[in-house]
Amino acid sequence: MFSLLQKKLGREGPTRLVIPEVLTEPGLHVEGTKLDIVEFAEGESKHIACVYLPFMKALLSADLVYNNAHLHLQERHLESWLARLDELEEFAKNRVSTICPGHGTAGDLRLICRLLQICAISPRRLRAATQKLPSSGSWPNTWNTV
Ligand SMILES: [Zn+2]
Repeated sequence: MFSLLQKKLGREGPTRLVIPEVLTEPGLHVEGTKLDIVEFAEGESKHIACVYLPFMKALLSADLVYNNAHLHLQERHLESWLARLDELEEFAKNRVSTICPGHGTAGDLRLICRLLQICAISPRRLRAATQKLPSSGSWPNTWNTV
């Protein structure tokens, strides 16, 4: 994967391989500041962890929230994603004023509402479209490199 990214992205690609380390506590320390890690069960993907910055009332939501980006439904977790958005909405009350989504620009809590609205427009059509997608393990190679 590393060499694939280097080849595909050229000078914009990674220059070294960084292996993630397992966290021993639900937080990170960056330059003396503790950042909280908030884990969510299956949502857009099988595992979602967000970084909460309480001093900024900000949440780095990873791919739990998108802003003006096509939803990634390939992993077929639409129902659980909707459930996680409800949980996120509850978590965010009085805690979060800015969400930095995994895709798109930062925004306020309306990003959650907007995403729920998009999914609610036609959940049956979204489910049907999701079922037509190949499972994540069976995408043609050409699709993986787009
Ligand atoms: Zn993503």
